Amino acid sequence: MKIVLATSNKDKVREIKEILGESVDIYTTNDFDIEKFEVVEDGETLKENAYKKAKSLYDILKMPTLADDTGLFVKSLDLRPGVHSHRYAGENPTYKDNRNKLLNELKEFDNRDAYFKTSVCFIDKDGKDYYFDGKIDGEISDKEYGDKDFGYDQIFKVKEVDKTFGQMSDEEKNLYSHRSLALEKFKKFLLKED
Ligand code: IMP
Repeated sequence: MKIVLATSNKDKVREIKEILGESVDIYTTNDFDIEKFEVVEDGETLKENAYKKAKSLYDILKMPTLADDTGLFVKSLDLRPGVHSHRYAGENPTYKDNRNKLLNELKEFDNRDAYFKTSVCFIDKDGKDYYFDGKIDGEISDKEYGDKDFGYDQIFKVKEVDKTFGQMSDEEKNLYSHRSLALEKFKKFLLKED
């Protein structure tokens, strides 16, 4: 099956391709000469935002479309940044701006528990939408560890291995990550649909 990804985030594209592997033919907006794919993510939930992204691309291409919306939820910060993880430190922050803001805000707290959650929305060729969620618990580290500069990866520690996602190869991150948990459910769904 041919599926197009409703994202222009190259880090997500790389991970999604690696997780879905050979099971589907993956296309991106670049393959259709869509210069800059941007959607206003003003939904109140990850699910709403994932749908918005998938639907706006589906409306253009009318082919099976997959979108992912992800948030980092920090217990001591009343689950912020959550749905607003992308623009946490302002309108056009770098990944590092967002990480710095979070580390600063958390300075005074002992409890650094957090979780990542991803909602994946898949719209099939007939326009029907399906949802798949993945969540992983962890904690925010005291500073950055590792050199993989993707979002909050360098400050999100997986307790059982005592490493941040930033210290892991994509392959290792995909053993645990919110995104791969959601996409493994999607893969099972595709097998049933065949
Ligand atoms: P989005 O709204 O789904 O694009 O994601 C919001 C923000 O969360 C992104 O801009 C990244 O900063 C961050 N993010 C998304 N996925 C991950 C991940 O797998 N690891 C670390 N940060 C992520």
